Amino acid sequence: MILGLTGGIGSGKSTVSKILGSIGIKIFDADVIAKDILETEETKKEIEKKLGKKFITDKNLIDKDYLKKEVFNDSKKLKILNSIIHPKVKKYYENLSKEFFDKKEIVVFDIPLLFEVGLEGFCNKVIVVDIDYKLQLDRVRKRDNLSPEFIKKILEKQMPREEKLKKADIIIENNGSLEELENKVLNLIERIREEKYENCCPSRKY
Ligand code: ADP
Repeated sequence: MILGLTGGIGSGKSTVSKILGSIGIKIFDADVIAKDILETEETKKEIEKKLGKKFITDKNLIDKDYLKKEVFNDSKKLKILNSIIHPKVKKYYENLSKEFFDKKEIVVFDIPLLFEVGLEGFCNKVIVVDIDYKLQLDRVRKRDNLSPEFIKKILEKQMPREEKLKKADIIIENNGSLEELENKVLNLIERIREEKYENCCPSRKY
């Protein structure tokens, strides 16, 4: 069984992923996968061709800091970069999905832009980690030391919260303590393992 895991920046998605990993569930982390894809020769060639030579260092590596800065300030460049990376990420999860979709073992596809890239079809159920806006800004500000304006800019590039919630099979609300979050996640997994989960979720909101 494949559980997709997503949520806006600062929602607590990585924290949920860590809790799931700590009980032995296999996690396939899109950030790690995208980083690996970025360093392949095929991707580097495409970036050089479509975005320019200046993104490749003398040592034939991607200049990630420069790339981040450029795409963040230019939505056209971001679109081009996404058109290079996202299909490869999609292919990777498609192959994994074939491997795990009908298995009893629970695995997690941890993907910040799961809906944006259109990967929900590769998961049996999608979990959205949800958080109130003010708390979200506060947690990101503390974690990343970013200004509220900058965080808002990042959020504008993600699918709006309400839309994500509509698409979710399971919602984990993370407005409480870390201990509460851990209990919710463990409870959810227990219920998934106990009940036949193919037809419906035992409960939609946690
Ligand atoms: P995401 O992966 O969605 O961006 P994180 O899991 O990194 O979010 O969480 C954002 C920040 O909030 C991190 O510093 C994390 O430790 C903290 N955090 C997450 N959940 C809670 C919680 N329930 N209580 C307090 N802090 C939390």
